Amino acid sequence: MLTFRAQIPNGFSLPRRISRLGELAYNLWWTWNPDAQRLYSRIDRELWERTYHNPVQFLRQVERARLNAVMNNRYYLEFYDRTFRSFDQYMEAKETWFQSAYPELENHLIAYFSMEFGLHETLPIYAGGLGVLSGDHTKEASDLGLPFVAIGFFYTEGYFTQRITEDGWQEAQYLPHPFSELPVLPVMEEGGKPLLVSVDLPGRKVFVRLWEVRVGRVPLYLLDANLEENSPGDRALTARLYSSDPDLRISQEILLGIGGVRALRRLGYAPDVWHMNEGHSAFLVLERLREYMEEGHSFDQAAELIQSSNVFTTHTPVPAGNDEFALWLVDKYFSNVWPTLGLEREQFMDLARHTVSWGETFSMPALALRFSEHRNGVSELHGQVARKMWQYLWPDKSVEDVPITHITNGIHTGTWLARRLLHLYERYLGADWLEHADDPDVWELVNNIPDDQLWTVRLHLKRKLTAYIRERARERWLRGGWHPSQVVASGVMLDPYALTIGFSRRFAPYKRANLILRDLDRLLRLVSDPEKPVQIIFAGKSHPDHEGGKMLIQEVYRAVKRPEFGGRLAFLEEYDMNLARYLVQGVDVWLNTPRRPNEASGTSGQKAAVNGVLNFSVLDGWWREGYNGQNGWAIGKDIDYDNPDRQDEDDAKSLYDILENEIIPLYYQLRSSDGLPGEWISRIKSSIRTIGPQFSTRRMVKEYLERMYLPALQASLKAPQSLD
Ligand SMILES: *Cc1c(COP(=O)(O)O)cnc(C)c1O
Repeated sequence: MLTFRAQIPNGFSLPRRISRLGELAYNLWWTWNPDAQRLYSRIDRELWERTYHNPVQFLRQVERARLNAVMNNRYYLEFYDRTFRSFDQYMEAKETWFQSAYPELENHLIAYFSMEFGLHETLPIYAGGLGVLSGDHTKEASDLGLPFVAIGFFYTEGYFTQRITEDGWQEAQYLPHPFSELPVLPVMEEGGKPLLVSVDLPGRKVFVRLWEVRVGRVPLYLLDANLEENSPGDRALTARLYSSDPDLRISQEILLGIGGVRALRRLGYAPDVWHMNEGHSAFLVLERLREYMEEGHSFDQAAELIQSSNVFTTHTPVPAGNDEFALWLVDKYFSNVWPTLGLEREQFMDLARHTVSWGETFSMPALALRFSEHRNGVSELHGQVARKMWQYLWPDKSVEDVPITHITNGIHTGTWLARRLLHLYERYLGADWLEHADDPDVWELVNNIPDDQLWTVRLHLKRKLTAYIRERARERWLRGGWHPSQVVASGVMLDPYALTIGFSRRFAPYKRANLILRDLDRLLRLVSDPEKPVQIIFAGKSHPDHEGGKMLIQEVYRAVKRPEFGGRLAFLEEYDMNLARYLVQGVDVWLNTPRRPNEASGTSGQKAAVNGVLNFSVLDGWWREGYNGQNGWAIGKDIDYDNPDRQDEDDAKSLYDILENEIIPLYYQLRSSDGLPGEWISRIKSSIRTIGPQFSTRRMVKEYLERMYLPALQASLKAPQSLD
């Protein structure tokens, strides 16, 4: 079906016996298979860390002597053969879940658009939760065998690197990535030139080339405007994620929506279902309208056709999180587009008009909502909020009848689970348990894991976290520019045997990172109890242009540095997927304190839960559905507030009371028979059992398939097939 294929370069000089390490480096299957990662790290552990788990860079730099050493190691070679057998079985499987369930739909295709993809720390093309969700969704689509293709951006400078000054101020550094050393492949034309796609921006054409990322069985294409064909300004269009410059932002979104459709066409794909993951890609609506109209359909016919095959997921109830553009900007970029759609200016603006306090805007989510028949929010509560928020688009419907449903987010279990737990679960849940990661009966078997085995792994993960924190601090200290108080703030004094709370996420004000600091004296009393000490680890970035977020980091950092806390509070720089893995695996309690109902879903607590970490969160987003009274703790009540100060006050009090009266005593309550915290461990089991299946992408992507993609597919089967 495809005319163009990305080729794996023959850049590595590997001994023939282990030459497939080069091929594997370019399939991100290795990111969710710990054995595959060990194929590299066993060759040279230190280099694997130094290259930040990037197998391409690793293979470029590894010494011949190291390769020769494993070539003579029988155990390594057996391990190599075993791992490649499972890789081949995975890639060549004829009986995937999808093929068994829907054999008749094999030749159809779902296209998935997202501004960011969080697949692995080595590919910094994500900022936070939205990206990680897209990455997890794509990995699961591969696991389930969905006919799926994804479109995103190759940001040459990615999201920024975070540094914190002595006074707690976040500084952003942008570092170009080493293109040739990332696990991405250039898509070329027959003659060996990069395949180009163009879009029209005011007064010029802008070109993008494509990079292919292989995510198991699924291809992800990344658009890249950093080309000689473009002006210097345009080359920077895909340099960074989430610019605040409206011209840059609208141009990026034109590239994603319109350029993305053209890229898929150029590659020879004919998707039947188009999934816009958040509003950034909503301009794809315009390109699809244009395509149908060029074939002779009227505007109304074209609109109907694309509505039935479009899927839209909205991700934020925070109005500022929803992209919208001033109408003058839309004039600038689209005045030559509306005639081609047979529309007048006002009719064009009506496609996505939104009235806000300062005037009218062109709203990307509104465009996506109006041109998708299948729409969802990302948790039950967020579904309710979204129906209220977008009701103006359906003025004759009551809020409950607004046609936006919800599919609660989940996580790609294999990506986030610690290797030791994976093996423990294999022993007690069955060798192929991951393929049934959405089946509650399989997770029931967690009860059979002996307490001491589970606890041994938990302690191992905590020690691993503290050791990692120390190593990072040492490296950072050696690089220079750090005040000694920052060494303390970096967590070097953390004790792997003390109750440890993790709080890591984007520093947006509604996430209230400072809620736990509201009563510093009470917090100090709890933290510094010599018999029952408590530690808190903070991490997270603020958008570099957002002063409010940066001030929050500063407030937290200043508290962390206070000597009376004795180094029991820490702030870790540079929260990314690597640090996230250490944290969700290595702390005891995962804290989340959003101001309800602003947390659409959240997923980090789900990652924590499968690793045996207990959630302690506001009843917002997914936790409102996940909490059952026994599998963690709820901060505050299941109610809505009108007064945010009152809400903060009540939530802080609830937080301290539960921490003091329930969490701390339970953690330190040891059973006399074996010296283990028996009650704590049984809570952990209850949390793993109940959260594991329900909040997996296995459950989530099946739900997308059954409730969104299949109805859209069915509609497209009835539609004219001329575009195929
Ligand atoms: C999982 C993850 C997130 C999203 O988690 P929330 O629960 O929404 O905070 C953000 N950033 C990183 C690096 C993650 O791994």
